[in-house]
Amino acid sequence: MIRTEYERYLQGSHWQEFRNYVIRLHPSCQRCRMSREMALEHLGQDLNVHHRHYKTLGCESLQDVEVLCRRCHEEETFHGQFWVTLGEMYADMQATKAGR
Ligand SMILES: [Zn+2]
Repeated sequence: MIRTEYERYLQGSHWQEFRNYVIRLHPSCQRCRMSREMALEHLGQDLNVHHRHYKTLGCESLQDVEVLCRRCHEEETFHGQFWVTLGEMYADMQATKAGR
C-alpha cells in the first residue's frame, strides 16, 4: 500500500518535472559517470533519480536526490538495505501526515 502511494507519486507531474530538471543539471551517473545516452544504449533505461531519503518527499531539493544509472541504482537498492529504507520511508510518511 505504501509502495503504491510512492509509485503513484513517482508517476505524478511534480516528480516528473523535478526529475527532468535534476537530470538536465547532472546528465551522468554521479557514481560511475555513465552518460544519459550511454545509459539508454547499454542499460536500456534513462538515468534514475534516486531518493537519498524520504524526509522531503513532495518537496525535494537537489541535496535530497542523486542521479544514478540503472546499474548503480540496483546496487544501491540491493546492498543499501532496501528494507530499512522502506521502513524509514514509512516512518517519514507517517510523520508528514501527523504534521511534524
Ligand atoms: Zn552508474
